[in-house]
Formats: sequence, C-alpha cells, structure tokens
Amino acid sequence: MKVLLVYAHPEPRSLNGALHDVAIKALKAQGHEVQVSDLYADGWKSQVDRADFPPLAQDERLVPTAASKKSFEAGTLTEDVKAEIEKLLWADALILQFPMWWFAMPAILKGWVDRVFAYGFAYGVGEHSDRRWGDRYGEGTLAGRRAMLIVTAGGWEEHYADRGINGPIDDLLFPINHGILYYPGYEVLPPFVAYRVDRFDKSGFEPVAERLRERMRTLFTTRPIPYRQQNSGDYLIPSMQLHPELGDPGATGFTLHLKDAGSAIEQ
Ligand code: FAD
Repeated sequence: MKVLLVYAHPEPRSLNGALHDVAIKALKAQGHEVQVSDLYADGWKSQVDRADFPPLAQDERLVPTAASKKSFEAGTLTEDVKAEIEKLLWADALILQFPMWWFAMPAILKGWVDRVFAYGFAYGVGEHSDRRWGDRYGEGTLAGRRAMLIVTAGGWEEHYADRGINGPIDDLLFPINHGILYYPGYEVLPPFVAYRVDRFDKSGFEPVAERLRERMRTLFTTRPIPYRQQNSGDYLIPSMQLHPELGDPGATGFTLHLKDAGSAIEQ
C-alpha cells in the first residue's frame, strides 16, 4: 500500500525526528511505499495569500474560498500545492506527524492544510439538496483512504484524561480528526500519542518506539474511529443537528458524533 507522511518538526535530531525514522522504517518493512512531505525541510509556505492564486488580477478583491475554487477547477493552483494534492491522491493512507504546540498542530502544518485542502478537492464537493449536504464527513474526494495522527506532547497522559486539566485528548484532537480528516472522507484511526516527552531518555524511548512500530504494522487493519456519516440519516438536513432519537438524551459535545447502536436511522 502507499503511505504519505506529512511531517512538521524543525529539527531532524529531535524526538519527532527519531520517531519519524521509526515510522518510515516500520512502514517499509511491511512492504508499503512511503512518500514524505517534510514541511520545514521543504520550506513550506504556510500562509494563504494572493500569491496562491496567480491569475487573480492585482486590483481584484481576494476571497480565499472563491479563489481556491476557481484555481482548483482551472488547474492554476501553485505547483507546490498541486504536488501535495497529487500525493494525497496517490496515497492509501495519510499520516500527519507533529509535536503538540499550544494544544494544536504547528502553524506550518495548519498552513499545509489551509493551502492544500482546496475548494472542490477537500471541501465544496458534491451536491447540496434536501437529502444531501455535499459529500463530506465520511464521504468526499478522499473516501476509502485512511488517516492517522502521530503526536508528541509534553503533558502527562493523566493531564489529557477525561477529568484531566488539559481536557480529553480526543476532544483536543477532534477538530483535526473530524474537522480536517473525516470531513474530506478519510477513515480516521485512533491517534498515536506519546506523552510526557520533554524529559525522555533512552529507556523511555524504546517502549514508545515499539508502540509506534505496532501502529505502523496495523495501519491498514486498525478499526477507525466510528464517526457518524453526515448523509446516513443520522443528521437532520439542513440544520445538521443529530437526529433527536440518537445519542444519550441530554448529552452534548463531541462524543455525540460517534456511532452508537441506534445509528443510521432510515429515512
Ligand atoms: P525533543 O525536544 O527533541 O526531545 C524531547 C526529549 O526526548 C528530550 O529530553 C530529548 O533528549 C529526548 N530525545 C530526543 N530524541 C531522543 C531519542 N532518539 N531517544 C531518546 N530520547 C530522545 N505540550 C503539551 O502537552 N501541550 C501543549 O499545548 C504544548 N504546547 C507547546 C508549545 C510550544 C511552542 C512548544 C515549543 C512546546 C509545547 N509543548 C506542549 C511541549 C511539546 O509538545 C514538546 O516539547 C514536544 O512534543 C517534544 O517533541 P520534540 O520532538 O520537539 O522533542
């Protein structure tokens, strides 16, 4: 199978650099083909601006969504963005690897998403009608492929537990897993997270590396996070509210969007 690893750390001799090498070696040992987008090494441009849309006239107002749509359709996105889109279409699985910075991905990686996930490619796909609200959340251009995160965090695992002060890790990563990866169609795997890494040493590294090797070995067999599909009948259109008969009564928050026994109401 084919795997694209998008990697965001500025220092090759970092812990992330070492885990990156572990992941690639383990994937290749499984016989997978691997491509890497090393964003810092490549000098990835992270901000969306006029330079992303060369045909835009100097005096024309920049509306990023409209410019993205027009450029994607016309094939005039910049070469760096087009190359990343080609890699995404090539890959059966996408891995995003990054250190958690301020409870989110580093800006360079967010900028990769902002620029590469173009209108007509990752969003604005499919028909809007009274039965469908576009192809997204489980459907879309990247449906049938898998995605997962490799994340390192300074905080302790307990700090990211259900009652931990940082908030649950699945909630913190929900905007990436559900909002960025599931949205254009990926089946999203549970994330690989290494906690409390800032005081890591050799004895701490090997168990984490082995856990990562195992996740790479099971990349194509691990059960994805069971998010609900938008157009399955679980949501009302056009309000996009979860059907009142689904989810625990009174429940709120991200877990509502996980399938339960009463999922996929026939309409
Ligand atoms: P490094 O600094 O390279 O290494 C970490 C430790 O591992 C060091 O002790 C190093 O000696 C050791 N090490 C490195 N390579 C190896 C190896 N091959 N074998 C054995 N040991 C090794 N954390 C949070 O939890 N939440 C946050 O919101 C958050 N925000 C942050 C914001 C910023 C701007 C920054 C800079 C850090 C933040 N952190 C946060 C901490 C951050 O997540 C960690 O510093 C990061 O994950 C560490 O990864 P690294 O690759 O940079 O590690």
